[in-house]
Amino acid sequence: MRQALLIHYHEIALKAGNRSFFTGRLKRNLAAALEGLAVERIGHPEGRIVVWLKPDAPVEPAIERIRRVFGVANFSVARETGRELDDMVEVAWGMLRERPFGSLAVRAKRADKTFPMNSMELERRLGGALMARARAAFGPQVRVDLDAPERTCFVEITSGPSLIAVDKQPGPGGMPVGTAGRVMCLLSGGFDSAVAAWLMMKRGAKVLFTHFHATPERAGRSSAPVARELARRLTPWQFGSHLWLVPFEEIQRHIVAKAPSQFRIILYRRMMLRIAERLGRRNRCLGLVTGDSLAQVASQTLHNLQSVNEVARLPVYRPLIGFDKEEIMQLARRIGTYDVSSQKFEDCCPLFMPKSPIIHSQLDSVAAAESALDIEALVKVGVDGAKLERFHYKTGEVVAGPATDEAEEPETAP
Ligand code: ATP
Ligand code: MG
Repeated sequence: MRQALLIHYHEIALKAGNRSFFTGRLKRNLAAALEGLAVERIGHPEGRIVVWLKPDAPVEPAIERIRRVFGVANFSVARETGRELDDMVEVAWGMLRERPFGSLAVRAKRADKTFPMNSMELERRLGGALMARARAAFGPQVRVDLDAPERTCFVEITSGPSLIAVDKQPGPGGMPVGTAGRVMCLLSGGFDSAVAAWLMMKRGAKVLFTHFHATPERAGRSSAPVARELARRLTPWQFGSHLWLVPFEEIQRHIVAKAPSQFRIILYRRMMLRIAERLGRRNRCLGLVTGDSLAQVASQTLHNLQSVNEVARLPVYRPLIGFDKEEIMQLARRIGTYDVSSQKFEDCCPLFMPKSPIIHSQLDSVAAAESALDIEALVKVGVDGAKLERFHYKTGEVVAGPATDEAEEPETAP
């Protein structure tokens, strides 16, 4: 019998008018994620997605990749079955008998209402037959447990194929990447902004990156290679990434020379936000993203966040604002950025850090501190100096270099 991965989505199913925009993108993202594996076809019978694998193809590599496809609520290994009860018992038992278990539940979904048995009747009859086999094989102690079964057997009858699946696993949830539009993330080399970017991807945004680094790159100490590696690590979640590397030292020197030292960090951040916004607007971004978390460091007091935020016209999203550092680290481990973000590097130039940065800045004093700077000229220095690097997810690997441009694809729901 053909083997498959049976995939369920949740939130997308609630979209009324434009559901097919979301499911279409989910299918395309699944195809991109699974590229190079032995996939025969990706089907979409009545509210679920079925990835058909070639006979004898290993399922583990496909499972590994599906874990990173946003929009997948859960998935399970499945096989096609005939519509006769005997067929279902054979297929289901073939999957269940591989390892002994103490309790079992059977859950049926009947998308095709012309199927003669209703779901409850099907559960009862298939369950009865499977229990008889399980008791014969594993002992009389095997029982039915509908609340917390050790193993679950799902049977799904569609008007296309009928499927038996076992052992549902959670997917990453969220919405398919590329359904929400684009945002520009200010990516440092630390833990927070990479996790913030991932949370935006999870809700369907395509995330572009801007990183500001000291110039020239100092061997072994520069932040640029760290940011580059973070962009690479995040690419399998969204299939393609743009990273702008912006030399920042000249801009910092101007700020150091022309503004009171206690305002430096706020002024650096304001310049970063302006430059990232300019790059973002040129690339159709609808918002900016930072890794700020309230009160984590001096630049993240409500006063200073307000002072920085003031210069942006695009909305600035801060998905980590209510997260503790420990929660952020846990997510970083899960998404695969932790070890990269742990590396030591110079966050721009440490020489330019003030001894006592202001903690509760006022908007008018920040404006006064900035008054001697030629803002537009400095933004131009940053934007003109920005170098674009691109990463593309291809047959399970992240490769650098020009990728097929997705510019023509719609990225928001119609
Ligand atoms: P992170 O862990 O992301 O570095 P952080 O806790 O160290 O954050 P800050 O250094 O105050 O906090 O930076 C706040 C946010 O400003 C970062 O999350 C990031 O979005 C942005 N940012 C800071 N430095 C840079 C940089 N060099 N390049 C791009 N963005 C930056
Ligand atoms: Mg930082």
